[in-house]
Amino acid sequence: MAEPPNWLNLDHVWLPYAQMAAAPQPLPVVSAAGVRLKLADGRELIDGISSWWTACHGYGHPHIVAAVQQQAAQLSHVMFAGLAHAPAYTLAARLAAKLPGDLDHVFFSESGSVAVEIALKMALQYWRNRGEPARRKILAFRHGYHGDTFMAMAVTDPAVGMHDAFRGIVPPALLAELPRDAATSAALDALLEREAPQLAAVIIEPLVQGAGGLRLHDAATLARVRAACDRHHLLLIADEIMTGFGRTGTLFACEQAGIVPDIVCLSKALTAGTLPLAASVARRHVFAAFLGTEFERALMHGPTFMANALACAAANASLDLFDAEPRLAQVAAIEAQLARELEPCRALPGVVDVRVKGAIGVVELATPAAGLRADFIERGVWLRPFGNIVYVMPPFVIEPADLATLTAAICEVVAARSRHATHEPHGRDAHDVV
Ligand SMILES: *Cc1c(COP(=O)(O)O)cnc(C)c1O
Repeated sequence: MAEPPNWLNLDHVWLPYAQMAAAPQPLPVVSAAGVRLKLADGRELIDGISSWWTACHGYGHPHIVAAVQQQAAQLSHVMFAGLAHAPAYTLAARLAAKLPGDLDHVFFSESGSVAVEIALKMALQYWRNRGEPARRKILAFRHGYHGDTFMAMAVTDPAVGMHDAFRGIVPPALLAELPRDAATSAALDALLEREAPQLAAVIIEPLVQGAGGLRLHDAATLARVRAACDRHHLLLIADEIMTGFGRTGTLFACEQAGIVPDIVCLSKALTAGTLPLAASVARRHVFAAFLGTEFERALMHGPTFMANALACAAANASLDLFDAEPRLAQVAAIEAQLARELEPCRALPGVVDVRVKGAIGVVELATPAAGLRADFIERGVWLRPFGNIVYVMPPFVIEPADLATLTAAICEVVAARSRHATHEPHGRDAHDVV
């Protein structure tokens, strides 16, 4: 392997979710195109995780590049209070048109966690504005993950394990099991019955819980959550930060259950991995609760870089591609290929589950999998197992042959591991997240 470039050292950069005393040096990337990352030493890796699930059209799509270049030359950013620009207003209208039901009012921010914070603020202030200030709790689900800022941590299952250091500082949310069957549905109803007078909202990752282990639930479960919120007069927040923009096979996961949440959070693939942008989108009745003559009824939030014009231009260009190119058909083809090609892993010792949903493929092992990361790089693919999970979430534009390289690497690495399973202790330092 070639020498690393001279800028590559860990003297001044603090890495995410990493024990810096033992952090391996990251791989230097010099460019990316389509589904390939090009490293400084000339090697290429096929990206199987789309840069934390964002790069849905692959890297450097010419339509997005042109849109961002043109916008940069014209107007990169202006403050969003008192001034307006076409990319943001156009994007808001296009999101409202694509989202189900009357999810019509778009509040922009710049990261997923902040979009969750804003959605929670909306839900809490909604009840205050309606004269029910006692409704101050949020109900979340076991294995859920909603971000790393403080209230987002509070609604994340502590067992997901990313926020142990802050236990006792963030107010714990009510945690429930997903209502997958009669018993868990009855338990959720009983909990809501008891807590409803203090509850403002329920928050859920629809159909796929991401960082909590890529766990799937079906549309009927999601529909039951919506029905339970209706019965107990609670707002439903759908965190579609990971599932939004086609990942589960429909543009938004909620569509598969035919439900309309009261607030939706979007980020990750919103700009197709180009620039940071997020949105918290509210239904008309939620928005209406903030209208009035008193200033205190207004939503008090305003990130400096909200609705950044470059990011909005990238998001509009990404939506153009969803309109013009057969992305959802590509996701369906990826789903079929993943199901076919990952299935053989099921029979391997040490594999407890194989599951596929849209452009998400998961091989769950009985023990931690993060130690396998180097084996994938050796095979020319970029995959990052976490927890007990080996997973693939490719860009939707991936060719079948490249996807086959990814799935073959997974099958080979998992098979090799099960042959050597007895002498592979993986400590907690190999267990860092996503
Ligand atoms: C990634 C993610 C977040 C947090 O988004 P950031 O942009 O990393 O703050 C929140 N919710 C879900 C479901 C996510 O996948």
